[in-house]
Amino acid sequence: MTFRPYLLLMHPEDILALTPAGLCCKLGSFHIDPTRAVERALITHAHSDHARAGHRAVLATRETLDLMRLRYGENFAGSTQAIRYGESVKLDGVTATFHPAGHILGSAQIAVEAEGLRIVASGDYKNVADPTCAPFELVPCDVFITEATFALPVFRHGDPSAEIAKLLYSVSVFPDRAHLVGAYSLGKAQRLIALLRQAGYDSPIYLHGAMEKITRYYESRGVVLGELRLARGATKPTLAGTITICPPSALNDLWTRRFPEPLNAFASGWMRVRARARQQGVALPLVISDHADWDGLTATIAATGAGEIWVTHGQEDALVHWCGTRGLKARPLDIVGYGDEDDGGEADE
Ligand SMILES: [Zn+2]
Ligand SMILES: [Zn+2]
Repeated sequence: MTFRPYLLLMHPEDILALTPAGLCCKLGSFHIDPTRAVERALITHAHSDHARAGHRAVLATRETLDLMRLRYGENFAGSTQAIRYGESVKLDGVTATFHPAGHILGSAQIAVEAEGLRIVASGDYKNVADPTCAPFELVPCDVFITEATFALPVFRHGDPSAEIAKLLYSVSVFPDRAHLVGAYSLGKAQRLIALLRQAGYDSPIYLHGAMEKITRYYESRGVVLGELRLARGATKPTLAGTITICPPSALNDLWTRRFPEPLNAFASGWMRVRARARQQGVALPLVISDHADWDGLTATIAATGAGEIWVTHGQEDALVHWCGTRGLKARPLDIVGYGDEDDGGEADE
């Protein structure tokens, strides 16, 4: 082990500590993804469990700020400051730098540095290509804070294009039926559309009204999604043989009555668990996730070079145990309130 003199000066917990409002940097007077209203919040991404309304000041990427504004209204924070990937700000002697997390549009990892010690709070992340957001950037650090949504060896997401091929095959086999694909409104829905376009599907794709604003925002940021129509305006016969993207909750809703012989699909990392798909009445489970799978999590942790790992929302125990077997110091961070919007939780809006 190499001698790191800063260890004498500062412990990671002196830079970031867990408080009732979430991760707090006392030295820099800010919180990261706080779960309660605070003076100064640095936000990794716009999913509602990480990005809440009511903070005095918010620092985040432009996309995260715009998405928060779309969802919460103009006055979601007292003041806002946009930061670009690769850009740093000094906050009372602490430096914070934002790096792409590859999770959804605008998602960032936040590197916090003081006295030569670097802690990376990665928020939610995935290390696979996604046509709707900037790719995950590996940031070497001393302490890496990782999510653990799919941190069990059974979770291996595989190639999303193979899942898209399953969907397109089903559409070709059942040309009289409407395919409804449940997908979380922010991130997953737009990625699904982009993946369908990548696969060469160029028919109009129908949207549930709940996804319209966010999807249009993605387009305004240069994400190409092809022809989109609202399912609301379509007649039943025209929906035969089409694909409609909707929030997962809409799959078991009266809303589906407007579709001819609807066939339910659901795009989520949880669809790896067949019993879960069956339970939810999903005929066509699609394993597509915006979170790193077991291999992605462990490979990323190893690649950061961090000697210490803090594990949040999900299967903390398995990942903490894995770190131990690799000689890494690890501990769970029990942050209450994470994982209730995207794949991290069951719910959606
Ligand atoms: Zn998220
Ligand atoms: Zn999360």
